[in-house]
Amino acid sequence: MPNRREFLTATAFFPSIFYRRRPRYAGIEFQVLRHGKSRRRYLLIHGNERTAHAVLTAHMKTHKGIAHLVTGQARNIPVGNLVFDPNRIWSRAGAEKNIRALNRNATDDQRETLLQILDKWRAIMVAAVIPPKGGLLVALHNNSQGYSVEDEVSISDQTSLKNRANPHEFMLATDPADFAILAQSDFNVVLQQKAPPTDDGSLSRLAALQGVRYVNIEAGLGNTAKQQAMLDWLEQRLPQ
Ligand SMILES: [Zn+2]
Repeated sequence: MPNRREFLTATAFFPSIFYRRRPRYAGIEFQVLRHGKSRRRYLLIHGNERTAHAVLTAHMKTHKGIAHLVTGQARNIPVGNLVFDPNRIWSRAGAEKNIRALNRNATDDQRETLLQILDKWRAIMVAAVIPPKGGLLVALHNNSQGYSVEDEVSISDQTSLKNRANPHEFMLATDPADFAILAQSDFNVVLQQKAPPTDDGSLSRLAALQGVRYVNIEAGLGNTAKQQAMLDWLEQRLPQ
């Protein structure tokens, strides 16, 4: 325990509005940025998505809420000799598929051990990142070649594709009221209020199942300006 003098020195060093700590869940270490009091929550779950990391870190200096940012810089998290994708662990079925796909040479026992670790941590991680009732969770992701809004159209409940020429930049919302507001922007937006039939273990699917207000802001890796613009637009228009 620090004595009072050390505590005062530490808090003078780090302004009280900007409190940090580094929890570790299932081998995933997070940096936690807290700024003021708000129901807003933010998440950077893929460490290799450096544009999203930079956009969120800068955003938290001027906006209130709590952000969790993965500290590693790789997409997948190692546990022993195995790896897993931290955005495919939010259901057991999704985690099982992902672990199988990423660890072809592992034994059933090894995969089961990792699944049990994730089972143990799942509820704790959900409690850490999900906002208080009625609050909004904003996740930031970057994509490179391949994945785009076009992959989400067929499994979405509604779409507003005003910038189809730039399909890598889009927002995915789980709440119809948030979608209705976001659809007034010039950005691509999709609504997934009902969880897509295939359980991929993603956080967006869990948010849809639990009725949590969630928006994923996707931008091409390197497209800082567009990701920042989407986040700013959302911040100004969506209710707390
Ligand atoms: Zn991602």
